[in-house]
Amino acid sequence: MSEEIKAVYLDNNATTRCDPLIVQEMLPFFSEQFGNPSSIHSFGGQVGAKVREARAKVAELLGAEHDSEIVFTSGGTESDNAAILSALDLNPDRKEIITSAVEHPAVLALCEYLQKHRGYTVHIIPVDKKGRLDIAAYKAALSDRVAVASIMYANNETGTLFPVEGLAELAKPYGILFHTDAVQAVGKLPLDMKNSDIDMLSLSGHKLHAPKGIGALYIKRGVRFRPLIRGGHQERERRAGTENTTGIIGLGKACELAMTFMDHENVEVKRLRDKLEAGILASVGHCFVTGDTVNRLPNTCNIAFEYIEGEAILLFLNRMGIAASSGSACTSGSLEPSHVLRAMDIPFTAAHSATRFSLSRETTEDEIDYVISKVPEIISKLRALSPYWDGDKPRADAFNPEYA
Ligand code: PLP
Repeated sequence: MSEEIKAVYLDNNATTRCDPLIVQEMLPFFSEQFGNPSSIHSFGGQVGAKVREARAKVAELLGAEHDSEIVFTSGGTESDNAAILSALDLNPDRKEIITSAVEHPAVLALCEYLQKHRGYTVHIIPVDKKGRLDIAAYKAALSDRVAVASIMYANNETGTLFPVEGLAELAKPYGILFHTDAVQAVGKLPLDMKNSDIDMLSLSGHKLHAPKGIGALYIKRGVRFRPLIRGGHQERERRAGTENTTGIIGLGKACELAMTFMDHENVEVKRLRDKLEAGILASVGHCFVTGDTVNRLPNTCNIAFEYIEGEAILLFLNRMGIAASSGSACTSGSLEPSHVLRAMDIPFTAAHSATRFSLSRETTEDEIDYVISKVPEIISKLRALSPYWDGDKPRADAFNPEYA
């Protein structure tokens, strides 16, 4: 009997499928209504109106006070860079930055650069074994020497949520600008920027079913901003360059759809995620969920399967048509656990095997049942090949007391 192989996409934290409704919304703006929104004539005017509509939808999804708080960018990476560099530029006498050990490279690599080449002191706040921020260390780093604190809303690998509202409130008395990379949270969690102390927030379209290469930076009314990209007068002089009009229109539609599906995301997607997690934990031994299972994105599940390599799991899953992702990055021939898992001090026997399954509103029950049925056989095949495994248990000498 030939085995049916399905195509199951569970890598939605890497990117989502562009929703056909969003594509439909964008299409006329490629070759019919193609004007430049800055133009005076009606070709430009039609597009300008649509861009304004999109901005209003982004503002609404964020619970922003005013549409002008939204600046369109090329995505999460640009928004993160623009926010941090603006804060530093505006506060030349403050030479310290606060961030966390588990940020996306869009923040961490910039901070490392600023430390190495611009003489900034970067306080990298550690996390515990569950990926939770060390609040005491954060409080200790606060001072009037700090220009900006950039702490992510939700971690892309584990889904762990940070209490950013409280962190922003703590930073305020010191005059520190608070930025959050909310790329993984926007569209999944309700936001209320009107009643928030967060000064700047980054989002990215391709994480919420819009196209790649479009994003936005929320800048609270009254918060000063120095642009990263200078040139024309677009985006009220906060981001020069002819607007990515189709991307902006797509992002606007994505925000509208996200508002419609938010409850679904928090109930149905979460139910499927929990079913997947429970199904795997019940049928596979020596595995555990990484990250904070209490405060977590509803769509993310990261499981460490001890004594095997994450890359091998991904290859075997892929053969079964299942797309997931691993916490390891293959750098210079050696498989290094990701900086997130290293920061969490995940045991050596598990750090290499963490596998992230990230769902979306498009994930079906049938797909989850299929994955639950395939994972146990993949893990037992790989364990049979593992030098750390012996029959149905880990080898006695595979145990590393350092991580007990
Ligand atoms: N921040 C986080 C938390 C992310 O997950 C990502 C993308 O993976 C980014 C930033 C970068 O966003 P973009 O791909 O739009 O530049």
